[in-house]
Amino acid sequence: LGGHMKPQSGAMRPSSVKRILAIGSGKGGVGKSTVSSNLAVALARQGRRVGLLDADIYGPSQPRMMGLTQRPSSPDGQMIEPLKAHGVTVMSLGLMVAEQEAIIWRGPMLMGALQQMMTQVNWGELDVLLVDLPPGTGDVQLTLCTKSQPTGAIVVSTPQDVALLDARKALDMFAKLKTPVLGLVENMSFFACPDCGGVHHIFGHGGVAAEAERLGVPLIGSLPIDLETRLAGDAGAPVALGSGAMAEAYEQMAAGLIR
Ligand code: ADP
Repeated sequence: LGGHMKPQSGAMRPSSVKRILAIGSGKGGVGKSTVSSNLAVALARQGRRVGLLDADIYGPSQPRMMGLTQRPSSPDGQMIEPLKAHGVTVMSLGLMVAEQEAIIWRGPMLMGALQQMMTQVNWGELDVLLVDLPPGTGDVQLTLCTKSQPTGAIVVSTPQDVALLDARKALDMFAKLKTPVLGLVENMSFFACPDCGGVHHIFGHGGVAAEAERLGVPLIGSLPIDLETRLAGDAGAPVALGSGAMAEAYEQMAAGLIR
């Protein structure tokens, strides 16, 4: 992967993929990758053929979240064979470099890698390819939205003002790039304290719902701060694989995504 390859002007969209859903956020650390991996797993559990492309090129977290440590192979030296985890076909630049290795690339190399991950990976027949975007509104988002024409985008935000402010920019970007926004996900909405039984709105309250309403975009999920979610992500087995309340929340969200 890599090299100074410019994306072709033609569509950067594998023909065997029915839908591409982009998952974005205004800023990092709001849970975009966590939501992506859990939605992928939930969709796979519903019998969908799901791919997960980790396009968060500078901070790829899907190898860890999906529990992958092997490197993808390329038997013919042309096409890359993606890996499978929890029923999901996964490709990430993080699979090609050591976990602690920094990826220090200029734009054109980045775009080359993105294009290769899209078109030189044997994705196979997929009902949906989820693309975990980098945070913000940069090159990768622009290239993906113009060259791959995603069916839709999901924006993840916390209720915190600064996160919401940036989420608005992400929403504005998708509008400008004519990628329909399917919905907003509010992550880390609240913390239900197991000791006192109280519900604490650590990052604020109501902002994402209000924003969704203002824009006429559905709020497709409100997910609490949840220890299990964090532990499961770190352990490489997303919480959506289980049977608790979080798995149910992701199942519901996934069921509404593809009709
Ligand atoms: P992003 O992709 O937006 O940078 P991540 O998905 O990597 O964010 O999440 C950042 C950190 O927060 C990770 O350690 C993840 O496990 C944790 N996290 C995400 N969502 C939740 C949640 N709902 N409850 C608890 N921890 C979470």
